[in-house]
Amino acid sequence: MSEFSIIENYFQGRSFQRRDVALGIGDDCAITDIPEGQSLAVTTDTLVNGIHFPESTPPILVAQKAVAVNLSDLAAMGAEPAWLSLSLSIPEHDEQWLHEFSLGIQQMSEYYSVQLIGGDTVKGPLSITITAHGFIPKDQALTRSRAKPGDLLYVSGSLGDAALGLDICKGLVHAHPSHKNFALDRLNNPSPRVLVGTMLRRIASSCIDVSDGMLSDLKHILYASQCGALVHVDKLPLSHAMTQTVSAEQAYQYALNGGDDYELLFTVPESLKGQLELALVNANVSATCIGQIAGLNEKLRLTLDGEAYTTEINGYDHFEEECSE
Ligand code: ADP
Ligand code: MG
Repeated sequence: MSEFSIIENYFQGRSFQRRDVALGIGDDCAITDIPEGQSLAVTTDTLVNGIHFPESTPPILVAQKAVAVNLSDLAAMGAEPAWLSLSLSIPEHDEQWLHEFSLGIQQMSEYYSVQLIGGDTVKGPLSITITAHGFIPKDQALTRSRAKPGDLLYVSGSLGDAALGLDICKGLVHAHPSHKNFALDRLNNPSPRVLVGTMLRRIASSCIDVSDGMLSDLKHILYASQCGALVHVDKLPLSHAMTQTVSAEQAYQYALNGGDDYELLFTVPESLKGQLELALVNANVSATCIGQIAGLNEKLRLTLDGEAYTTEINGYDHFEEECSE
């Protein structure tokens, strides 16, 4: 089967179709329209076989995760997702794999109303690169750099479940089957917080998605905003599966340093707290206040039941070993 028949059989005309796409898959470029008054947000993420997902991961989950991690980046900027492009490197033409993978892309595309508008297909080690495009009303993007001392620090959903799932997978932690299923689902099928992101425009002062570990991602906000922060470890949102499976101390470690959560971590000026709470209720979304931004040049401090709490920050970094001095 040629490259062209792969594209035709598995990708062309199979995703959600949007009216703002004048020309989709099939020509040298896609042609799309950006609505008036909106800015375009663009992000790219790559998943490599054996690094970002185990070799044995079902292709439908690989596809869903590849889309989800990109939509999570759009969500973190307050962007509404619109289009995807997919660069696919596959070692061989495996019809079953392609069928299931394309189904995963199709399902995400339908669920989030995004259209696959192009890409590239090459032979090589299994790797998936997706570029996602979204819209943000002009000047309303949520960045990392505008947190201010006194702002409240929130996180959506619960923390650490994906890292717990990974340890369950590796046989390092034993869990009740229902908790195992929950944690594995959080690992393999993350839900990008697209609605929360768009809802936070005009409310949050800064925002980031939690992909490397909460503390590690919080540090990006603090660095970009030149602030410190106080985090109440006892306030971290933990799932039922988490609290029923590991000790409190282990749960805190998963929540502070576990990767792959794809929740949103954001700051809100105290004066907008009421507005945030109303928006959360209206959207039926949960978010928890876990601390507060501290003054210029202050450090990141953690407390547990009012006492200082110390921990290492072990966020995931691909180049850590090569770059450490
Ligand atoms: P070109 O050689 O002109 O770059 P290609 O042969 O790579 O074009 O691709 C033909 C068309 O199919 C283009 O519209 C391209 O965007 C699209 N395409 C290629 N691979 C994929 C893919 N994996 N998913 C979606 N669209 C793809
Ligand atoms: Mg090409």
